[in-house]
Amino acid sequence: MTRKGKIENVRRILVKVGSAVLTGEEGLDLNIIEQLVNDIAALRERGYQVVLVSSGAIASGKHRMGIKGRLKSIPQKQAAAAVGQGRLMRVYSNAFGKHGIYVGQVLLTMSDITDRKRFLNIRNTLFTLMDWGVITIINENDTVAVDEIKFGDNDHLAAMVANIVEAHLVVNLTSTEGLYDRNPAESKKAKFIPLVTEITPEIEAAATEEATPVGMGGMKSKVLAAKKVIASGIPYIIAPGRHPGVLQEIMDGKETGTLFLPPAEHLNSRKYWIAFTLRSRGRLLIDDGAKQALVHDGKSLLPSGVTQVEGDFVLGDPVTCVDAAGNAIAKGLVNFCADDIRKIMGLKSSQIESVLGFKDYDEVIHRDNLAVTAPQSGKTKTCA
Ligand code: GLU
Repeated sequence: MTRKGKIENVRRILVKVGSAVLTGEEGLDLNIIEQLVNDIAALRERGYQVVLVSSGAIASGKHRMGIKGRLKSIPQKQAAAAVGQGRLMRVYSNAFGKHGIYVGQVLLTMSDITDRKRFLNIRNTLFTLMDWGVITIINENDTVAVDEIKFGDNDHLAAMVANIVEAHLVVNLTSTEGLYDRNPAESKKAKFIPLVTEITPEIEAAATEEATPVGMGGMKSKVLAAKKVIASGIPYIIAPGRHPGVLQEIMDGKETGTLFLPPAEHLNSRKYWIAFTLRSRGRLLIDDGAKQALVHDGKSLLPSGVTQVEGDFVLGDPVTCVDAAGNAIAKGLVNFCADDIRKIMGLKSSQIESVLGFKDYDEVIHRDNLAVTAPQSGKTKTCA
């Protein structure tokens, strides 16, 4: 199938743009931003909905404060973001204003979306903004996000937002052409990869860690984000953000950038949220029979399949299921606390009541609350 055929049903696009695209020596690159905004406005004319995840706050704030080199401390980065975020929005607002388009700002932290109610509220807000024809510009709430509430980088943030807005396509605009089989900055032999149908260990190894001085991600984080996004059935393109008209080219079906195709089977929105948004509170080691039941037979996890419990978690917590080889194969919300599972592991469901004195559930994790992340082929995807 041609590139065009693979994206022909796309109507809603999540565009993520990195600091390395948006900024130069002189802080925000106004020409590039104008070029990007023109490209997005042209897509809107063609009937596409666009949601934008934009970096650039820290880089812009750093430049405004006249700071050279890397910002070293977290408070410095947070303060730079406080200065830069307002500027970033003003630049976008002016550029979109020329097309008669209003912009809305949404700043998120991880804790905003790990809570299911808040997740759904944010979703309603984002859908309302889309209904209003506003271009929503999303960034991490850098000034308040520290350590565990941090998305870590905007590649990851965009992967989470893609699920929230039910994007049909994610385009990650970067300072490279796309993915190569090795780092093109280090090797002249590096070969461009236009299409990825499965994220194999070789593909992951091809992507290196280094981020630019102003961005956080590096190619590795883009490929890890692609892995999450395609797990929910959304195709993902890493493309050159400074290339004029790049978004229109992509929607014209040109072979621009690297396209990652989703597998035939993918997670629904709620299971994606469980797999990739929630932080795991512990691990359940499971035997081969339980692995078969979860991965291939679409069944729930029963106490009989659990061989070991790690961590201290309570009913309803997200917990990772790990196979005998140590691979994380699923994540789900448990029906019993860690201590109770320790007491009932290896037993039949019919024995739960006599051991615990109560039995609210037959399953340790019900199928509806279980996101299987191991593909049927046996290769293992990671979950967050
Ligand atoms: N949120 C950061 C900013 O706006 C960028 C994070 C990233 O580069 O991934 O500056």
